[in-house]
This record gives sequence, C-alpha cells and structure tokens, in this order.
Amino acid sequence: MEHTVTTLNRPDQDFDIRLRPSRFSDFTGQEKIKERLELFVEAAKARGDVLDHALLSGPPGLGKTTLAYIIADSMESNIKCTSGPVIDKPGDLAGLLTSLERGDVLFIDEIHRMQKTVEEYLYSAMEDFVIDIVIDQGPNARSVRLNIEPFTLIGATTRSGLLSAPMRSRFGLLNRLDYYDAETLKKIVERSARILNVDIEPDGALEIARRSRGTPRIANNLLRRSRDYAQVKADNIITEDVASRALALLDIDDSGLDEMDKRILQTMIEKFGGGPVGISSMAVSVGEEPGTIEEVYEPYLIQEGFLQRTPQGRVVLPRGFGLFGLKPGNTQQE
Ligand code: ADP
Repeated sequence: MEHTVTTLNRPDQDFDIRLRPSRFSDFTGQEKIKERLELFVEAAKARGDVLDHALLSGPPGLGKTTLAYIIADSMESNIKCTSGPVIDKPGDLAGLLTSLERGDVLFIDEIHRMQKTVEEYLYSAMEDFVIDIVIDQGPNARSVRLNIEPFTLIGATTRSGLLSAPMRSRFGLLNRLDYYDAETLKKIVERSARILNVDIEPDGALEIARRSRGTPRIANNLLRRSRDYAQVKADNIITEDVASRALALLDIDDSGLDEMDKRILQTMIEKFGGGPVGISSMAVSVGEEPGTIEEVYEPYLIQEGFLQRTPQGRVVLPRGFGLFGLKPGNTQQE
C-alpha cells in the first residue's frame, strides 16, 4: 500500500518541512482555529479519547498540512498522509485504514478529489470504525465486515464547496483558514529568517509580507529569494530596499497579486467594463472553473478591496482599476 501513502511532493518540500512549525505555540495567526483545536485536543487527551474528525479548508499554502501534523503531534499520535486523487480504489483505502493504530491520524489532502466509490467506503469507517470489504467475485462474492481501530481523519480541501454533504456531515470539527494579514505574515517571515539564519530588518520582513498574497508558503519562498539576492548583491542583509529590489527582479509587483488575480481583474475591466459580471461569464473569459475562482482567487481579491460581490454580480472596485492605471467609468488607459 506504500504508493497510497505519500509525503507531499512539492519542489520546495525540504524547505517547507524545515520551516514548518511543529507546535501550536509556533503556529502564528488563525487564532480562533488554533484555540479551538488546542481545546479539543486537550479535552480528548484528558478523557483518553480519540480526537473527532476534522476538516481544514482554505486556499493553498495557508497551513492546513502544518496543522494536521501539529494536531497529531499534540495527540502524541502517528500520522499517515495521503491525498484524495492518489487513492484510486476502495482496496487502497482499506489497506490504509486497517494499518492504523488506535488514535492515529489519517491526513487526506485534496479530499474533495476523492473518487465517489472510495468516499462512500470512508463513511462507515469514520462513523463506526468498520469497513465492509467485498471478497471473491461473481456468485461467490460476499461482503466481510472488518473492525478498524478508532482513528482521526483530518481532511484538507481548497474547495470545500465540492465536498459532498454526507462527507462534510461526518466531520465534527470544521475549520476554514483565512488569508493572513501583513503583520502576522511579518512574524512568520521573521521566524523563518531565524531558522534559516538570515539577517533581516523589520521593514524588510514587512515588505516581503505585504507582497505574499496573504500566504505563508509564498512569504517563505519570497524570503528565500530575497536571501539569495542579499547574499549576492547586498552584504547578506535584507533591508526594505533589498527586499523590494529582489521582488522586482522576480516580477512580483507591489500589490502581491499573482497572474491569475490580475487576469481576473483585467478581463472584468476590459470585457465587462468592471462589472457587474456573473461568475460563469467571468470564469469562461479567464479560462478557469467558477468554483476555483470563487474559493481560491476571489476571497483574497475581496479581502484586499479589489473586488466586491453584489447581488447583480462581481464588481471591480477603484483599487482594482487603479492597478492598471484606470478609474471606474474610465477604462481607457491614459
Ligand atoms: P497547505 O497545506 O494549506 O497548502 P502548508 O501547511 O503546507 O499549507 O503550509 C505551507 C508552508 O507555510 C509550511 O511549510 C509552513 O512553513 C508555512 N506555514 C503555514 N502556516 C504557517 C503559520 N501559521 N505559521 C508559520 N508558518 C506557516
């Protein structure tokens, strides 16, 4: 069953792991979620119970995987990690579930991408800690019920809207992670800089934080790039100016928006005069799924005041026009 248990395979994986906080006290921000999870962990531990299943949702890079590891660590449990699309048959899931010991955490990333047949299998495992396996084929096929050890499922999803109602209802703890504000990200950058032994001034950390799209993973990556720049061009110290020059070299603009964010705003302005635009027309125009726009891109654009949701549709706000040197009602560049 080895292939179903993967560590997350990202190019910046080693770096990610080095900077990953391993305790609640090192996890900066998301105060409410942290407080809630810490409380439930403490209560479950005091009773000698297994922690309830938890769903963590929110855009990529905000700390869902990190929290899953912290929860397992606080429960003094083992964690097994896999991802929705990797489990392609119920048998793979059965193998995973039967290998769990009491109290273990099973982390399923991208849980919304799990196949229906596999998902249905998970219901009885989550609810009653049993699975029904079909053995043999044809006329001899019969179902055998297996008990599994009580475990905690932690599901992560960037698209909570795609999770089926029966799946969602089986999670006792639902948590939605929000984007981080610049001050919180600044603390994360400063902590990462200490771990990496990088000299950084507070204004340098803030500059990186401001341009990181509210996302710790991006902040850590920009810190790494700024460190390289400082090493070659600026005496190994990241000041505000050094960070700014390093990020300009990477084409990261002052707003911290990424390419898709800008494409969404630009398309809305150029094709729809800034709106109101319905989500489906907008999605077709930028070539992205409506749900991804709604759950991954829009929340940040709304939070930062680039975009607004109205009953008539989405509308670009003056800050969004300003990004392209334009004003509402005047969509011709001067
Ligand atoms: P997700 O699973 O939501 O995509 P991760 O948990 O993999 O995100 O987080 C990406 C990286 O960002 C982690 O390696 C970690 O270093 C950093 N990170 C995320 N959240 C925080 C936080 N609250 N405090 C410090 N670092 C964080």
